[in-house]
Amino acid sequence: MSEDAPDFVRPVRGSRWSDTQSRDALQAIAEGVAEVAGFDLVGISVAREDGYLHTLALVGPEEARRVLVDSLAPVDQLLVQLETAEDWGALKFIPHDKLVLDIEKWGWFSDAPRDNVAAGAWHPEDMLIAPLEGADGGFLGFLGMELPRDGLVPSAEKRALLEIYARQAGRAVVTTLERERLAERVRLAGTAADIVRLASGTQSPEALLAECGREVTRGFRADSLWVQLLGPDHRCDGPLHVDGGPTVRLPSGVRALVSAHAQRAWERQCVAVLAPDRPVPGVLGDEQVAELLDFFASVEVGSLLFVPLGAGPACFGVMGLTRGHHGAEWSDEESAAALDIGRDLGRALANARTFAREHELVQELQDLADYKGRLVATVSHELKNPLSAILGYVEMLESEPSLSDDARAWIAAIQRGGDRLARVVGDLLLLHELTDADDLEPAPVDLAPIVDEVLEMNAAVARGRGITLTAEQPPEPTLVLGVARDLDQVVTNLVSNAVKYSTDGGSVTVRHERVGDEVVLTCADDGFGISEADQAQLFAEFFRSSNPAAVAQPGTGLGLAIVRRIVVRHGGRIEVESELGRGSTFRVYLPSA
Ligand code: ADP
Repeated sequence: MSEDAPDFVRPVRGSRWSDTQSRDALQAIAEGVAEVAGFDLVGISVAREDGYLHTLALVGPEEARRVLVDSLAPVDQLLVQLETAEDWGALKFIPHDKLVLDIEKWGWFSDAPRDNVAAGAWHPEDMLIAPLEGADGGFLGFLGMELPRDGLVPSAEKRALLEIYARQAGRAVVTTLERERLAERVRLAGTAADIVRLASGTQSPEALLAECGREVTRGFRADSLWVQLLGPDHRCDGPLHVDGGPTVRLPSGVRALVSAHAQRAWERQCVAVLAPDRPVPGVLGDEQVAELLDFFASVEVGSLLFVPLGAGPACFGVMGLTRGHHGAEWSDEESAAALDIGRDLGRALANARTFAREHELVQELQDLADYKGRLVATVSHELKNPLSAILGYVEMLESEPSLSDDARAWIAAIQRGGDRLARVVGDLLLLHELTDADDLEPAPVDLAPIVDEVLEMNAAVARGRGITLTAEQPPEPTLVLGVARDLDQVVTNLVSNAVKYSTDGGSVTVRHERVGDEVVLTCADDGFGISEADQAQLFAEFFRSSNPAAVAQPGTGLGLAIVRRIVVRHGGRIEVESELGRGSTFRVYLPSA
C-alpha cells in the first residue's frame, strides 16, 4: 500500500462492481448469513490489489450502510488486528478490549451503551470475522458479523453452527469473486483480440487509431481514449487523437510531461493511474502533478490510466483511458490488459508506419520513373526532327555525282550512324507510348496475316543468309483480343531478332494456335541461343547480350522490352526457353478473342 494513501476508511468512487450481478449475489449471501446466523450487521469486504478492503455488501442499520458500503479500509491494519483475535477455527473473534484499530477512523460501530456490559453479553465494539481465502490460500477479504440479535457472544455450540454458515458463505463469496475476475479477464481478452484483429487489417496510423480507439474505449468502459504519438525525438508529434468525449488539446506542460516520461514508462513496462485521490507516481514533482490535475479538472476527467505504446525498445506514444469523477476505479486486471494492448497497438503502429513509409517510397520511385519517362520522351522528340533532316540531306548528298570515293565512304558512315540513332529514337518513343497509355482498345485480331507479312518483310535478309523462314499456321484464324499495330510490333521484333541472332543457314519457325482461352505465339530459332544469366535480364530496357557474336549485330536493347510491355498491356505473358549455341524459343500467351 502506498505511504501517501489515507490510513482510514474512505469512500470509493465508482467501481467495476457497480453494475454487476456479482454484487447482487454478494448482497444475497450477506442477507442469508444475517438471517440464518442471527446478526443485525453482516458485511462482505473484498481485498483489492492496491491493499484496500472494499466493502461490497452489507446488511445492517441504515447509518452503517451509508458509511460502510463502498468504503475502502487498509488491509494491513486488519491483519495486525487479527493477530490479537481469539481463534475460533474458521472464525476470529476480536473482543473490544483487544481492539487496536482506531474505531473513530475505522468503519462504523453501534452507539449502544458501552458501560456495564454483562459478562457473556456482546459489546458494541466486539468484532466477529471470517477471513476468506482463495483457492491458492491467498487472503481474499472477509465476512464480518456484528450485533447478534440475542445480544450474546456466541456460545460454544452456536460457534460450531456459525462456523458452518461462515464456511458456506465463504465458498459462495470466493466463487462469486472468481467468476467476477474471470468475467473481467474474458472481457478484456476480448478487447485485446479485437484490437489485434482490427490492427492487422489497418494501414495508416490514423486509420488504425480510428479503428482500434473505439474498441479500446468500449472494452475498458472508459469515457474516452486519448492517444498522443511521439516523433523520433520522443517529443509529442501531431495532435491528440481522441475517441469519445470532447476534443481536447494537451497543454504544453502536459505535452512536456508525456514527452519526458513515455519512453521510461515503456522501458519499465509500467502503467499508472492518475487521479486526484491516488498516490502520484514518484517521478512527478508537486507542480507537475498540480498541472496535470488542473488539466483533468478542466476537461472533467476523474481518473486516467496512462499506458505507453511501443514495440521492441521504441516507444511510439502513449494512450490515456479516462473516466469521469464518478467512474469506476482502474483494476489491476485492467491495468495489465491495458499494457498488453499498448504492446499490440504499438506493434500495429510500427507496422502502419513502415507501411506508410513504404508507400511514400513507392510513390517517390513512381514519380522518378514518370520523370524519367517524360525526359526520355522529350529528348527523343527533340532528336527526331533534326535527325530526319540529317538523314534527308545525307540521301541528297549521296546522289551528288561529283563526290570522291572517300567522301562517299564518309557519307555512308554518317548514314549508318544516323540510321542507328533513328532506330533508338523510334524505339524510345514507342516504349514511352506504351507506358503512357491506358487507352488500349482491344478488338479481335487475326495473327495469320500479321505473321505472313512479317515473314515477307524478313524474307530478303533471310534468303541472303540462307536462313529458312517457316510459318506453321492453323487453317482457321487465330483471333487475339488486342491491338493490331501492337501485335505486329511483337511479331516483328521476335522474328527480326530470330533472324538477326541466327547463324547463316539456320531456320526460324513461327507458330500460333489457340489453347483454351489463350493464343500461344511461338518464335523458334536454332541460332546463337542465350545464356541463363542473360535470360534473367533479357526484357530489361537497353539490355544487350554478353555474347560477343550477338553484340556484333546492330541493336538498341529495346526490342524485347517493347515486346514485353505490349504483351503485359494485353493481359498476357512471355516466356523464353534457350540454350547458348542451340537456339531460342520465345512463347507469347495472349487472351484469345
Ligand atoms: P536488340 O536486339 O536491339 O539488341 P532486344 O531487346 O530485342 O534488343 O534483345 C536484347 C538482347 O537479347 C539482344 O541483344 C540479344 O543479345 C538477345 N536476343 C534477343 N533475341 C534473341 C534470339 N532470338 N537469339 C539470341 N539472342 C537473342
